[in-house]
Amino acid sequence: MKRIAILGSTGSIGTQTLDIVRMHKDMFVAEVLVAGSNVDMLEKQAREFKPNVVVIAEESRLADLKNRLSDTEVKVYGGTKAIEEVVTMESVDIVVAAMVGFAGLKPTLAAIKAHKEIALANKETLVVAGEIVMGEAQKNRVAVLPVDSEHSAIFQCLNGERHLTAKKIILTASGGPFRGWSRAQLEGVTPAQALKHPNWSMGAKVTIDSASLMNKGLESIEARWLFGVEPEKIEIVVHPQSIIHSMVEFEDGSVKAQLGTPDMRLPIQYALTFPYRYSSPVETLDFRKYSTLTFEYPDRVLFRNLQIAFDSMKNGGNTPCVMNGANEIVVKAFLVGAISFLDMPGVIEDVIARVPYVENPTVEDYFETDAQARRVAKEVLKIE
Ligand code: NDP
Repeated sequence: MKRIAILGSTGSIGTQTLDIVRMHKDMFVAEVLVAGSNVDMLEKQAREFKPNVVVIAEESRLADLKNRLSDTEVKVYGGTKAIEEVVTMESVDIVVAAMVGFAGLKPTLAAIKAHKEIALANKETLVVAGEIVMGEAQKNRVAVLPVDSEHSAIFQCLNGERHLTAKKIILTASGGPFRGWSRAQLEGVTPAQALKHPNWSMGAKVTIDSASLMNKGLESIEARWLFGVEPEKIEIVVHPQSIIHSMVEFEDGSVKAQLGTPDMRLPIQYALTFPYRYSSPVETLDFRKYSTLTFEYPDRVLFRNLQIAFDSMKNGGNTPCVMNGANEIVVKAFLVGAISFLDMPGVIEDVIARVPYVENPTVEDYFETDAQARRVAKEVLKIE
């Protein structure tokens, strides 16, 4: 039995992780469930999965949640400090880091320091502080297992290989809902259009990041730290069918790819069961449905966020952290109609130019940088 703590249990990855727990009751127990503010869903999950502990990040909702679960044995806590504490509990074996955004960094670091295995969905953690997080994982001999489908694919391709022979990491991208659109078409794009991803059903933030190609930039930085590869060895190929989840090219020219039906439950389950494989709820890949697989290179001029992310990765220091903080604010602003789709990269670049560069940031520097980036982004956007 593996006892799981799910950070972000009410989200897209969180609920799909619980699908896996539901299917393999003989293998997994949901020991801890953590949500941001959704008390309705967290209550339902607590009643179904009977975890030892639930935590609601937004403390103003704690009394309500406690009240709702007063007829159960479930322990109920609130606030961000509580999240950092529950991940270190003796009874937790693996932590599924599926919160959205920078908020995932602290609890993930706390879990690593407590020697918990990590199933990582929260890419922002590695984007912001990849060197420190992977350094701590090495020091504490903790496995960081990828949940992101692209990174799971690369991880599977590298399995059994001598890592040093990998010449190139090739991340595939669906291209999002606006693949092939012109600048004129992109000018009037609405949040509702951007939220309609062609192949994946995901949380709002990652869906907007997919539409702007920032997601592929964040994933490139995630891959850089997860697999210890230099930025020059990371390539992006647009593959609209999302059947090949990513590839690795080796020294001899051989390319390995991992394929599967686009369903996040596959990489989630693999992270939980690694190195073993079990039956899953995922539909078998029917090749007759996908007689044509196509590939093209992304448009880094029109979808500038991708280039900004690569430049930030090469710049190093606290630049990816600044970019990430600015992006989180810009995405929220876009979702409420405070900025247009095409104006997002300009604001991010502006923030990167204004926040002071720190070459070798400490964890504290990252928190300071993130706060500064958010403050400057709001100033640029003239929002509260
Ligand atoms: P969602 O927006 O669907 O869910 C986010 C989850 O995090 C919710 O449970 C939310 O709670 C919780 N949460 C938000 N803020 C906090 C906080 N401050 N403290 C504690 N919990 C919080 O996101 P996704 O599931 O789509 O994405 C999660 C992460 O996984 C992201 O980093 C994303 O990039 C990554 N990812 C997602 C994929 C997908 O298919 N969805 C694919 C690959 C990676 P509440 O519901 O109460 O707000």
